[in-house]
Amino acid sequence: MNTIRLCLGCGAKNRVPQDKAHLRSKCGKCGASLMGAPIANQVNALGDSEFAERIQQSTIPVLVDFYSPTCGPCQMLAPVLDSLAARFAGRLIFYKVNTTIHQANAARLGIQGVPTLIFFRQGHEADRLVGAMPEADLARRIAAFLG
Ligand SMILES: [Zn+2]
Repeated sequence: MNTIRLCLGCGAKNRVPQDKAHLRSKCGKCGASLMGAPIANQVNALGDSEFAERIQQSTIPVLVDFYSPTCGPCQMLAPVLDSLAARFAGRLIFYKVNTTIHQANAARLGIQGVPTLIFFRQGHEADRLVGAMPEADLARRIAAFLG
């Protein structure tokens, strides 16, 4: 079982065997460190302290799920996002922000309720969806966003 880490330097997909994921590794294309690089085929947890850097340095479009662990619709949406992260691996980076712990960016972005999904392109908000939705509908929105 491999995970696929996206190089934030060049956008290359790097296959990392799961049992070696703890080792320091480098991008096979440009040599940049893969420490902290997001996993392409999974939803990556993101905290307030690294939020701005991760969103702004990404050359690949980003989708952030602002959620709360106790919210029912958020729990329904989580497996949908896991599935879509696998389907859109390498084309869209998936992050999730636990708003019960990390509130600064949620407040700055004016998030009123969870789940809220925000699409970012080149570091700027491009679209926003509030509430859970079926996988097929969300897949269509993502495909439309990616063009
Ligand atoms: Zn690279």
